[in-house]
Amino acid sequence: MKKLTLDELVSLCKRRGIIFLTSEIYGGYAGFFDWGPVGVELRKNVVDSWWNYFVRFREDVYGLFGAIIMHPKVWEASGHVDRFIDWLVECKKCHARYKAEELIEEQGIEITDYSPQNLERIIREHNIRCPNCGGELSEPKKFNLMFETYVGSVKSEEAIAYMRPETAQGMFINFKIYSVYARNQLPFGIAQVGKVFRNEIAPRNFIFRCREFEIAEIEYFINPAEANECPYFSEVKNVTVKIWTKEMQKKEQEPKEMSIGEAYDEGVFSNMWHAYWVGESLKWLNKIGLSMENLRVREHLETELAHYSAQTFDIEYNFPFLGWKEIEGIANRTDYDLKRHAKFSGEKLYMVINGEKIIPHVIEPSWGVERVILALLTEAYSVKENRVVLKIPYELAPYKVGVYPLLKREPFIKKAREIFMQLKNDFEAFLDISGSIGKRYARADEIGVPFGITIDHQTLEDDTVTIRFRDTWEQIRVKTSELKETLNKYLNK
Ligand code: ATP
Repeated sequence: MKKLTLDELVSLCKRRGIIFLTSEIYGGYAGFFDWGPVGVELRKNVVDSWWNYFVRFREDVYGLFGAIIMHPKVWEASGHVDRFIDWLVECKKCHARYKAEELIEEQGIEITDYSPQNLERIIREHNIRCPNCGGELSEPKKFNLMFETYVGSVKSEEAIAYMRPETAQGMFINFKIYSVYARNQLPFGIAQVGKVFRNEIAPRNFIFRCREFEIAEIEYFINPAEANECPYFSEVKNVTVKIWTKEMQKKEQEPKEMSIGEAYDEGVFSNMWHAYWVGESLKWLNKIGLSMENLRVREHLETELAHYSAQTFDIEYNFPFLGWKEIEGIANRTDYDLKRHAKFSGEKLYMVINGEKIIPHVIEPSWGVERVILALLTEAYSVKENRVVLKIPYELAPYKVGVYPLLKREPFIKKAREIFMQLKNDFEAFLDISGSIGKRYARADEIGVPFGITIDHQTLEDDTVTIRFRDTWEQIRVKTSELKETLNKYLNK
């Protein structure tokens, strides 16, 4: 089968009102996107699925809807002001700027040491030049990714604030409120989904690398003395996936297929809770339609670790047009953030349980909503008889049912409208009257509508309609009185 290209996916997303570059009438604005009528529904369904799975239907995770702009001290305490940086290289001739590690990786060179000295060494040794004009590249320079803004009426140094680059800090600064809410017991988690902003040097690959995007994140607080006591572990221990530890990467070995239970027993994870969150993450990604063959778990090398992390695993997806790329990170942030905020704020950020002072440790699974949806669209994209069929899981499909009169005239339209009115309170449905029936089916297939109801000549005689299935193009005939029940059955409602 022909490999999907990014251009094909971008073109579908634009053609069908899913996602497109913002401000196109002004020539676009790199790294910022708008979500159209189909995209906004898809996004909402994915986020709802996440929220249900990780917050609403759990006993131990509480939601937060936090501010995007927080006290500037938050970002000093978190380390982002000093350390949330990328290494940038600039072309000495045309002044184009690049993220050093990306330029190197694009040459097929694997990096095991992300220090600026090593990045420069690789660039010089491999004679990597500016992809734009072939010019010589500068030495790597520090570039902080946080967007700055001013708060208040005076635009002075003191008024500088930051657009959050991650949602996590919102959870840490509210730790005290949530620990009381959790009845002073561990473990518990705080979750939020929200916009974040990163001034990426080179936004690229459609929504894979944006400057404004959404993160879905949990900070899960555990008692470090009970880090290997996870009562839910049996729910994930049989999840099997390719795992690529840092040792395997250093020895240039291939990733190994293992269950989470085996990997935990072999000491791959920093603790049992960390293993659990990797497993639980995989279960949800699989539930929303990503196949396990296209997912793998890769451990960060020491040189890649963020300043707050003791150990991080990325869940990577095998994009046909990008290769294996991170869609989620699961870090063990230890007590780093609580200690830093305690120091910077002077607050007591610990718990006292049974007379014992405990600074919880934190496991943080962090999903990029755009990247998860990019993976989902990639997995769903299929071609049948030269036509695109988006095989999104039914649960996430933006629309569930299209209603089509076979012919564009009465009494077909009247009957179609009647059926649409009958369905619209129970299903995300639409009525489509324009164009030939073939074109209407094709349009619906491209946005992943699972079912099409057609009102034809026979409908007018015996009050039956056909249901057409997106994935097989097969049709069955049912009585209109049984339509709701039949659709519910296929939707597993
Ligand atoms: P990368 O190494 O690709 O820059 P990261 O390691 O900095 O990503 P995290 O800080 O772990 O990313 O962010 C959590 C998640 O947010 C990532 O797993 C990814 O899915 C998503 N993400 C990060 N940067 C971007 C971006 N620029 N555009 C879209 N999603 C992003």
